Amino acid sequence: MSANARKILLVAACALIDADGRLLIAQRPEGKSLAGLWEFPGGKVEPGETPEETLIRELREELGVETREACLAPLTFASHSYDDFHLLMPLYVCRRFEGIARGEEGQAVKWVRAKDLRSYPMPPADEPLIAPLIDLLG
Ligand code: C5P
Repeated sequence: MSANARKILLVAACALIDADGRLLIAQRPEGKSLAGLWEFPGGKVEPGETPEETLIRELREELGVETREACLAPLTFASHSYDDFHLLMPLYVCRRFEGIARGEEGQAVKWVRAKDLRSYPMPPADEPLIAPLIDLLG
């Protein structure tokens, strides 16, 4: 961790996988940090929440998708130092969900093959999550 990354931020991320084995990525909107980059849906774990509760809430708010704790399986964990904070980010896989995912907050969303993920620029913290997903999905 770099000397000035004093704060730890816990963000839960989710690889939503459809029946064809494709993954959903969402584009960070203008006005947010890292705008234009593609990421796995998710968000900050709020005090009192488990990462699974965060994902259930964020998938509903961001994508209009419903899932449950039993449908979220941890796959891997990212740990990355940004200039002003250190990000810890567990990645869960979710294959069972209800609803048609759409960008409820105006963000672009795309279903892509794991092997094509590197064509979409991602935040540096998300990049190490790609290899485990290619291992899982081909
Ligand atoms: O999404 P949100 O802006 O709340 O995330 C907080 C910070 O976590 C972002 O500014 C970004 O630096 C980092 N982040 C990330 N990859 C994600 C989600 C968030 O690097 N998939």
